[in-house]
Amino acid sequence: VTLEQTSPKKESVQANSPKESKDGLEVVVLQSRCIGASVCVDEARGSFKLNSLKKAVVTDLSKNSDETILNAARNCPTQAIFIYKNKKQIWPIPGADAQDKQPGTKLKMSLDIE
Ligand code: SF4
Repeated sequence: VTLEQTSPKKESVQANSPKESKDGLEVVVLQSRCIGASVCVDEARGSFKLNSLKKAVVTDLSKNSDETILNAARNCPTQAIFIYKNKKQIWPIPGADAQDKQPGTKLKMSLDIE
């Protein structure tokens, strides 16, 4: 795990590293959007947790079905959870917000500090 020094400015575009479920869902939490509401942690137990900064990180996607993980993302109050299947964004629904497109490729990625 490589740790990076990030200024507050950089943190606004920081996402944790993507993880894949058994069936190939790729999940990224855009941490600058996460308000630590814990909905994902409660809905998909074992697949998300809050780090020391109260930002959600993906832990083990095999603990839940893809449907449960998708529901957790749908219920995130700030749409901080991005889900891809076969490299295509399926949540949030692409086009709903132009800025949401392909955050994993546009934004600087960095591993979470745990
Ligand atoms: S539900 Fe959304 S805002 Fe709440 S902890 Fe999870 S990612 Fe963060």
